[in-house]
Amino acid sequence: MNPEDFRHFGHTVVDWIADYRATVESRPVLARTPPGAIRAALPPSPPDQGEPFAAILADLDRILLPGITHWQSPNFFAFFPSNTSGPSILAELLSAGLGVQGMLWATSPACTELETHVLDWLAHMLALPDAFLSSTDGGGVIQDTASSAALCALLAARERTTGGASNEHGLAACPPLVAYASSQAHSSIEKAVKIAGLGRTHLRLVPADAAFALRPDALLELIQADRAAGLQPFFLAATVGTTSSNAMDPVAALGPIARDHGLWLHVDAAMSGTAALCPEFRHFFAGLDFADSFNFNPHKWMFTNFDCSCFWVRSRAALIAALSILPEYLRNAATASGAVIDYRDWQIPLGRRFRALKLWFVIRHYGVEGLRREVRRHVALAQEFAAWVRDDPRFELAAPVPLNLVCFRHRAGDAANQTILDRLNASGDLYLTHTRLDGKLTLRMCIGQASTERRHVANAWRRFQQEADALV
Ligand SMILES: *Cc1c(COP(=O)(O)O)cnc(C)c1O
Repeated sequence: MNPEDFRHFGHTVVDWIADYRATVESRPVLARTPPGAIRAALPPSPPDQGEPFAAILADLDRILLPGITHWQSPNFFAFFPSNTSGPSILAELLSAGLGVQGMLWATSPACTELETHVLDWLAHMLALPDAFLSSTDGGGVIQDTASSAALCALLAARERTTGGASNEHGLAACPPLVAYASSQAHSSIEKAVKIAGLGRTHLRLVPADAAFALRPDALLELIQADRAAGLQPFFLAATVGTTSSNAMDPVAALGPIARDHGLWLHVDAAMSGTAALCPEFRHFFAGLDFADSFNFNPHKWMFTNFDCSCFWVRSRAALIAALSILPEYLRNAATASGAVIDYRDWQIPLGRRFRALKLWFVIRHYGVEGLRREVRRHVALAQEFAAWVRDDPRFELAAPVPLNLVCFRHRAGDAANQTILDRLNASGDLYLTHTRLDGKLTLRMCIGQASTERRHVANAWRRFQQEADALV
């Protein structure tokens, strides 16, 4: 594709995206294609000769769009948001245009230095402890996902606890390591334990309290029992805003336990971390001074395209010791000088995209106040929705509503809630998902799309009421 064709079709693509974003509201949110329908519409083999760009783009509309679930719809209330914004999309395009691979400082100094700088900005924006700033022994890095961040934290913790023996001689040379997380923790913690080869029987899922938050007393009991059995407790994952119900683990109470028993404390705030932009929500993050690592996903609730997961550590040495390798072909003067950061040593893969660019665009476009305004808007909408639920005797709230997720259910039981869920999702008017709390099927209404306005939330509530009316 020559530069003139690129310019021409580039304009077409930007127009396509602008039109899509302007009209996405009118599309059924959840894709309705049955399994295999998209593949059946695709040719069995690739073309021998290149095809016109216009034909490829036309097939995006014709073949693929029917199989798209519209995550950017203002009526998307499922799982968690994966919200985007104009500046983020354009920065992603620029990142693709630059095509930088930022594995080393030397492979593109701007890629590394902007990342370090933006993560320092964000540490200030979220009022994180100073120990996470790049000017200290700690620092931040952009990972692809919260799952990778949790794995990196676990590996750094293992490195610290075993004094490097796990890396050098393997796990067989170390006392059996035990990790702890709430029974409500995200599945990525269990996955990290699995990948690290610790064995699932060495993960303790600590019971939660009535508000689904990890119980410090139960944690302490488990640690003491494991110690007495000759095991080595080494890692605790606390969650600020669990995926299932947005429960807030009490980091301030867990921190001293982790410290006293030598556990690495990782705080996973994948979605809710964005709320720390607002001073009035920072009480949920009290105790972060005890954290060895912290993670949140701008690709969930901070208007930044997937993927972008920000991860900070108090000790970069432990992380780097766990992950660093230096083959001859990567040696260079800047690395040898020790004056630069090589982010390949802070993550699992070697290669890395220029992700800081979209964060920089988003932060500059909105400004800190602009981002706060959006977070407050979403939280206010969720609180208003929760009040409607509370006022309708047919429904009940199933968990506290600290921020932007409302967990609720019809009082008639699981079958009624399943019917409501299925009918609403089939209608295309909105998309929501469920969880199970106290053994009961629970509807989750998660509000966080950039384009979601009060009228979308009010309409969603009207639809819930209609479906409740239609129950026999
Ligand atoms: C969404 C979520 C994750 C997983 O996020 P990925 O970035 O997709 O790995 C982990 N923890 C919590 C609390 C989440 O909400």
